[in-house]
Amino acid sequence: MRFEYSPAPESRAVVTLRDSYGLFIGGAFVPGSSVFKTISPASEEVLAEVTHAGPEDVDRAVAAARQAYERTWSAMPGRERGKYLFRIARLIQERSRELAVLETMDNGKPIRESRDVDVPLAAAHFFYHAGWADKLGYAGFGPSPRPLGVVGQVIPWNFPLLMLAWKVAPALACGNTVVLKPAETTPLTALLFAEICQQADLPPGVVNIVTGDGATGQALVAHPGIDKVAFTGSTEVGKEIARACAVSGKRLTLELGGKAANVVFDDAPVDQAVEGIVNGIFFNQGHVCCAGSRLLVQESVYDEVLAALRRRMGTLRLGDPLDKNTDVGAINSRAQLDKISELVSSGEAEGASRWSAPCPLPDRGFWFAPTVFTEVSQAHRIAREEIFGPVLSVLTFRTPAEAVEKANNTPYGLSAGVWTEKGSLILWMASRLRAGVVWANTFNRFDPSSPFGGYKESGFGREGGRHGLEAYLDATGNADV
Ligand code: NDP
Repeated sequence: MRFEYSPAPESRAVVTLRDSYGLFIGGAFVPGSSVFKTISPASEEVLAEVTHAGPEDVDRAVAAARQAYERTWSAMPGRERGKYLFRIARLIQERSRELAVLETMDNGKPIRESRDVDVPLAAAHFFYHAGWADKLGYAGFGPSPRPLGVVGQVIPWNFPLLMLAWKVAPALACGNTVVLKPAETTPLTALLFAEICQQADLPPGVVNIVTGDGATGQALVAHPGIDKVAFTGSTEVGKEIARACAVSGKRLTLELGGKAANVVFDDAPVDQAVEGIVNGIFFNQGHVCCAGSRLLVQESVYDEVLAALRRRMGTLRLGDPLDKNTDVGAINSRAQLDKISELVSSGEAEGASRWSAPCPLPDRGFWFAPTVFTEVSQAHRIAREEIFGPVLSVLTFRTPAEAVEKANNTPYGLSAGVWTEKGSLILWMASRLRAGVVWANTFNRFDPSSPFGGYKESGFGREGGRHGLEAYLDATGNADV
């Protein structure tokens, strides 16, 4: 039986959009060299005009961050820094509805996800790191680890506010100042975060936000005044950044793409596993670096799992991201929709069998129906390349050893999932899977106290937990202070 739902849209009234946003440099919004428009991917309406930071604007931002580092932030006792982080965390909570609605408008993700995942986790990252600010001497990096200096941070569009929190919270807790560049298509929550920094009375220049495109990111990571670069995004751009930072003396962490295997054994509870598969690949329209985009099913339960999966996919509700009933929102941009469509066409051309959930797509905006490919071989592009969309490739295996071999047959190594009743099998698999995170009987779970990061072409360095602090500290006492 299928129930119809009445629309339950979240009100946009809680958000006050400005017509035009400047760059956030030295604690104030300032004009820059040119402007561009940010749109809603669900309706293609223009939301606001945003400033594009050119090299001279990046220069000003780095100078403001340097001044704040030297005069205020690096000299401030950890317990004082911690108070600012606690204040920011509380303000994120107080303004959570506004942040969630704005994130959904600019990114296209369902309000259910921005409200229940992105924003609470962003606040949790600030709370968690606020607690570390005065305890860094006990984190295992020597008795008096020093900050690194000015950090350049470049983030993608899939979790705009959450990625900001992953980057800014540990950097500030450790005594660094930051210049952050949000993605071109999703700058608005970072700019609202700038207002939150003002509201928290954060000393000017500790956080600077330069909006723009790839060229702005390039100018930031290449800037000689930067001591450390932290990047999340595609492997291709990550490699470029690694080249740009080579022999510059800059510290670097990269969190890049993934092609995670989600492995279902024949003793797994099928309904629970199917929920995990759906959450693994259709959460956030599959715009997730650690998405479970390759499903490996044990042959003996293949028919049962696939039938249950198709049934469940048929109940997913796609449409208005601001509607609280929506499961699958809009694709973030036309460029990303084109990329997904091209890879899906390659899957069909290479002989895999496609099934898409029979859901109507809205007339305006960028949409892609949840899709599953069967009869996929390991050589197919859809089994090797990151699609970054709501598209699942299904492969089969007979033995645990074969599952490990297939799961590891990828240039990436960010995450993996294992579904089985046997604890011993979970441990056996986890010790063999080359992935930074291995989830057991769950998927896409995040916690600020748990380190996250990859192997191989998924990058290096960890974010979150005690391990994540290391990326922002100089334990040798050699940092330039
Ligand atoms: P990018 O890696 O291009 O973008 C990530 C960030 O880097 C953005 O802020 C981008 O700016 C900026 N940037 C782009 N070029 C440079 C450069 N040369 N130097 C410094 N910064 C730069 O990802 P895209 O948004 O273009 O997406 C492309 C593909 O990458 C996706 O289809 C997906 O497969 C993958 N991806 C993976 C992510 C992950 O977390 N693993 C996240 C996002 C994308 P701008 O937005 O202006 O281009």
